Formats: sequence, structure tokens, C-alpha cells
Amino acid sequence: MVQEQLEEVRQNIRNACERSGRKVEDVTLIAVSKTKPVPMLQEAYDAGARDFGENKVQEILEKEPQLPSDIRWHMIGHLQKNKVRQVIDKAVLIHSVDTVGLAEQIEKEAVKRDLDVSILLEVNVAGEESKFGFAPEEVEEAAREIAKYPHVHIQGLMTIAPFVENSEENRGVFKKLYELYVDMKRKNIDNVTMNVLSMGMTGDYQTAIEEGATMVRVGTGIFGTRAKIGEK
Ligand SMILES: *Cc1c(COP(=O)(O)O)cnc(C)c1O
Repeated sequence: MVQEQLEEVRQNIRNACERSGRKVEDVTLIAVSKTKPVPMLQEAYDAGARDFGENKVQEILEKEPQLPSDIRWHMIGHLQKNKVRQVIDKAVLIHSVDTVGLAEQIEKEAVKRDLDVSILLEVNVAGEESKFGFAPEEVEEAAREIAKYPHVHIQGLMTIAPFVENSEENRGVFKKLYELYVDMKRKNIDNVTMNVLSMGMTGDYQTAIEEGATMVRVGTGIFGTRAKIGEK
């Protein structure tokens, strides 16, 4: 079942790329496996998935040793400073850096172990009370601060769009983040790269691709619905 769903998502990605004149290689599908058991991840892996997204450090630590070592783990959930130490050598990319203080903590831990850590800045585009992330107008200043940390490398931006019934309702959110991404790219800040735009989930990844996403994070569309327990 995972294999079929994954294939369907890939087909939708190809279609969205075609509609928007984009190359399919420029979009990375992250299989969001939070709350799902290891055999389901293995099934996705066997069907070719290599990028997996988790929102809890503990879950990455538990699953990682049980699965092939060429999996790229993406930390996509809110990260607490006291968990940084455990995750920085496990995740290829931390999508959810939402304060300068968190980046500072990543720098501290990365120095100790001589690691280079890639991150995205999470942006609360829609200004939702309940969401983490920088306000769009805070992003440049935060990037300039974080750029001073030599072991922390900003690769781009991420957003979690509002939950909507119709993905068209989020098109404006995606357009706004894309504009910010292009603006930030033009600023050419030292130690800041703008090549990753992580936006779009099961309900709206096709719209996000049409608006420039380079990474989409799809959970339910691949693994099915999650029990509410264990959800953030
Ligand atoms: C759970 C989650 C997703 C995937 O959500 P689905 O709607 O199941 O595709 C994507 N991004 C983040 C940050 C998440 O926490």
C-alpha cells in the first residue's frame, strides 16, 4: 500500500512540475514518517524513498539504527535547545530553526564535535498565533545574525502553511515565501545559501510545487492517516 501511495505522490509531483515548467529533479519528496512503525518506513525505502521527515528527536534516534544507513533524516518539527546535541549528527537538514537562540545552541554543539550543520529558517508566513517561526520581516536580520555562526549553514526557508480545505487558499502563502526566498537569494549574504524552499504537505504540495517549492513534506499521502495521539 505504501508503495502505491508513494507512486501516486510521485506522479502528482511530475504533473505539477509539468504544469509549471519545472524539472522534476528540482523537487525532493520527503516522506514524513512520524508516528509510523519501522516496517512501513522500510516499505517506502524499498520503493526508493531516501529522504524521511520526523518531528521528534526521540523518534529519529529510535528508528535510525533499525533502518538502512543511506537514509537522509530531516528534522521538521519544533526543536528544543536541550535536544540539539542528540540530533545534529543524525539529521541532514534541520527545517525548523525558529529563533536565533536555537541557531546559537546548534553552533555551540557543532563546535564541540567539529560538525557542519545545515538548517532552514522556519517562517510563519500567515502569522498564525499557534505556529512557530520568524515573521517574514524578521528573516533578513535573523539570517545575518545566524550567518556569523561558522558551523551553521542556512540553506533556505521553510513554512508550515495553515490547514485549509482547498489548497488554492494557500497559494498566496506559498507565493509570499517564494518572493522572500528570491529576495534573500539576491542579498548574497556570506554563509547563507538560498537553494531550498521547503513547503507543501499532503493537502497542498502540488500547489506548493507550482509556486516554487524545492522540498515537499508528505506524510498522510504516503503512509495514511495518523492517530491523534503522538501528534505534536
Ligand atoms: C506532519 C508534518 C508534515 C506532513 O503532514 P501531512 O499532512 O501528513 O502530509 C509536514 N510538515 C511538518 C512540519 C509536519 O509536522
